[in-house]
This record gives sequence, C-alpha cells and structure tokens, in this order.
Amino acid sequence: MRIKKVKCPYCGKEVLWTEESKYKPFCSERCYLADLGRWLEWGEEDEKEYR
Ligand SMILES: [Zn+2]
Repeated sequence: MRIKKVKCPYCGKEVLWTEESKYKPFCSERCYLADLGRWLEWGEEDEKEYR
C-alpha cells in the first residue's frame, strides 16, 4: 500500500497523508493553528483598511 506524502504548507516538513492525520495538509496541530492564525491576522488588517 502506498502512502502519499505531502509537505506541510507552514513549515515544509514532510507529512504522511493518512486518515489519522487530522491536520493535513499540515504536519501538526501547531502548524495548522499557526497558519490559521496568520490568515485571521490578514483578515483583520484588511478590515482596518476599509474603515
Ligand atoms: Zn508543519
């Protein structure tokens, strides 16, 4: 059985794409939340511009 590997979009680490990996394509919860937080920060910046 072949296991697909992806690279974590946040830290670039190789991640095994399995059903157990809840945070794919991220390697861990930490990277998932860190990337999510980055997006939320950008959203806030956009809002400020419109005000
Ligand atoms: Zn990562």
